[in-house]
Amino acid sequence: MRVDLHNHTPLCNHATGRPREYIIKAIEEGIDIYGFSDHAPMDFDKKYRMSFDAMKSYEDEILSLKNEFQDRVDIRLGYEVDYLKGHMFEKVLSAKVDYLIGSVHFLDNWGFDNPEYIKGYEGRDIDTIWQEYFNAVEQMAKMGRFNIVGHIDLMKVFNFLPKKDIRLIAKNAIKEIKKAGMSVEINAAGYRKPVKEQYPSKYILEVCYEANIPITFGSDAHSIEQVGLNYTRALEFAKSIGYSNCVSYINKEMQLHKI
Ligand SMILES: [Zn+2]
Ligand SMILES: [Zn+2]
Repeated sequence: MRVDLHNHTPLCNHATGRPREYIIKAIEEGIDIYGFSDHAPMDFDKKYRMSFDAMKSYEDEILSLKNEFQDRVDIRLGYEVDYLKGHMFEKVLSAKVDYLIGSVHFLDNWGFDNPEYIKGYEGRDIDTIWQEYFNAVEQMAKMGRFNIVGHIDLMKVFNFLPKKDIRLIAKNAIKEIKKAGMSVEINAAGYRKPVKEQYPSKYILEVCYEANIPITFGSDAHSIEQVGLNYTRALEFAKSIGYSNCVSYINKEMQLHKI
C-alpha cells in the first residue's frame, strides 16, 4: 500500500499546478491513499500560506475531488500546521479534517529552512540551534493536537549538521512524540534539497523504530512532478530500518497499512 499524506496546493502561494493534476499524477505513481495538507493560515508569514477565508474553499475543493476520484484513489484532507508560539489558532487546530501535520519551520520567527534567511545560521552555535529546534518539536508534541510530525529533522536542509549526537538532541522530543501517539513522516523533499537525504535521518528513524513510533509517507510536493518523486527510495529506506507498516488517518483516527 502506497500512502502519501503531505502535498500542497497553489493556495499557499509557493506551489504550482491544480489539485486535480496532483491527483492524476498520484494515480499514475500508484499511490493508494493520497492526502492534501496545505499550509494552514496564521497571522505570520502570511504570504506563504492560504488565508483564513480560504479554508472553506480549500476543504470543499478537496472533498469534491475525493468524491469524484473515489474509485481510483483514496483522497484524504489535512493541513500542515506551523508550531509557532502565539500563532496557532483554534479554527485550524479543530478543523474537521482527517489529520494535522505539525511542523517547525520557525525558531523565534526565523524561517531557518528558507534560503532567503540562510544568513541566520552565521555566528550561532550549531548545537544550540539544533537543540532549540528539537525543543520546539517536543513542545509541539506536548500540545497533543497534531497527528504527524512533519520533516522531523528539517534543520539539516542546508547541511548545517550538529556536532553533538543527534540522538541525544532529539531524545526528549521523540519521547513526547511517542507519548502523544503521533506518527513521523518519511518526507521525500529532503532528496531534492542540499542535504540530499530524506527526513528523518537513519539515526533518528532507528530511535523511532525502537520506540515503536509509527511512520507515514509524504512527497511534500509543491509541483506536479514532485508527487511520488523518490517514493520507492523513501519506502526502501523505511524497510531497511525494519518498518513493515505505515499509517494514514480518517477523521484523526489512525489506520495501519502494510508497506
Ligand atoms: Zn511549502
Ligand atoms: Zn513543511
